[in-house]
Amino acid sequence: MKRVVIVGGGFAGVSCARRLTSNPGVHVTLIDKNNYQQFQPLLYQVATALLGPGKAGFSLRSLLRGHANVDVKLAEVVSANLTTRTVETADGKKYQGDFLILAAGAQVNFFGTTGADKYAYPLYSLRDAELLRSRILMLLESVDREPSLIEQGALNFVVVGAGPTGTETAGSLGHLIETAKKDLYNSLEWTKAQVFLVDHGHTVLNGFSKKSQEYAVGKLERQGVQIRFGVAVEEVHSGHVLLSDGTRILTRTAIWAGGLKASSLSDALGIQTGRGGRIDVQPDFSIAGFPGVYALGDFANITGADGPLPQLASVAQQAGYYCAHHIAAAIAGKPGKPFHYFDKGIMAMIGRNAAVAELGKKRHEMTGPIAFAAWLGVHALLLIPNRAKIEAFLDWAWDYFGGSNVNAVLDRPEQVAVNWQADEEKQMLQKIG
Ligand SMILES: Cc1cc2nc3c(=O)[nH]c(=O)nc-3n(C[C@H](O)[C@H](O)[C@H](O)COP(=O)(O)OP(=O)(O)OC[C@H]3O[C@@H](n4cnc5c(N)ncnc54)[C@H](O)[C@@H]3O)c2cc1C
Repeated sequence: MKRVVIVGGGFAGVSCARRLTSNPGVHVTLIDKNNYQQFQPLLYQVATALLGPGKAGFSLRSLLRGHANVDVKLAEVVSANLTTRTVETADGKKYQGDFLILAAGAQVNFFGTTGADKYAYPLYSLRDAELLRSRILMLLESVDREPSLIEQGALNFVVVGAGPTGTETAGSLGHLIETAKKDLYNSLEWTKAQVFLVDHGHTVLNGFSKKSQEYAVGKLERQGVQIRFGVAVEEVHSGHVLLSDGTRILTRTAIWAGGLKASSLSDALGIQTGRGGRIDVQPDFSIAGFPGVYALGDFANITGADGPLPQLASVAQQAGYYCAHHIAAAIAGKPGKPFHYFDKGIMAMIGRNAAVAELGKKRHEMTGPIAFAAWLGVHALLLIPNRAKIEAFLDWAWDYFGGSNVNAVLDRPEQVAVNWQADEEKQMLQKIG
């Protein structure tokens, strides 16, 4: 029996584990610091209270159930010896494999921006999304009781970074405001609510076509999102953000969609890391000099036939499937086949019933409801169990087209409490006048 240890139960790790379990000569140990797979493409909808957390997190044990040759371990891996293919967890346990697969994904990168690590809300994990949702709801509840808090920026939301995550989040906030205005918090002074989208570049959705970008900007502006191009966020404080042109925006919610780097495990491997702190891999995802060790998904710098591949769920998933076949071939003493990425394209949602999609390698462009439907189809395919595919597809479609209620449960009040009396902020407000 060959032992395979997989670190990370995301798109890459889970697809690899599932494919390997069909091989009776293999035993898989999948280790993750969460006991669920998080579906990152939907985090912004959880964060803006449009979906419940249960629709963006799937139990790893359920995803892998029915296979006797797989173990799931809830643990954080803190170091790895690539020569012996052994990992150690925070509680001191060691796991050694004939093959070791590192698929620990990515984490937020604040690029050293002052105060961002303390005050900004990143959007990379399900926990991040739940915290942000609670923060937004906490502010709405606070303003409902005390309208004067609006003057302290309580209804200003600043999204940092206009890539797909920032653009989708800004659009979704616009939509949340529309819904909350009508259905939930109808006594709030909504005309004073503002959503800002800030980017040091000069367009949204970098990497998309001009047509998609223009469509997205038009949609966002119609939803009232104020776009600030050509400025960087220099500082994030508890009550405001400072832009590089000197503008101060009072806010209690700076949402960080400004960039990613490899998960911190990459620093504990004792090897030189590449772009974005990720692990440079060979065409078969192995790490040079360490036979039997592989890095996949957002944890790796993967090169396809036309150059570096982006950090996308479909890249991670296909890499996971490929790696499983590659290992099965190695066990059988057969040569592995080269990896070919099947490019389904790129897409982003801008708001209810509005999306941009550039499908396939030729980037066939679509906008509007048809692009939204394409988004639903492609993302449902990323789900693993068929039942989850069908359920999620129906849920997303219902939630989005059907106009379901905002998921307004403030479930983490202690963690998102706002200190309206903080000295630093009081002084700042006095200075601003
Ligand atoms: C907000 C957001 C929206 C996105 N939207 C899209 C989209 O619409 N379409 C798309 O294709 N892609 C999208 N992406 C990108 C996509 O989600 C990633 O490319 C994909 O999740 C990468 O898969 P992965 O398996 O490499 O990593 P992940 O899915 O991040 O999984 C990594 C796993 O490793 C675990 N882990 C990390 N460190 C440790 C450790 N030390 N010990 C144990 N476990 C650990 C984590 O808990 C996690 O479960 C989005 C990403 C974000 C952040």
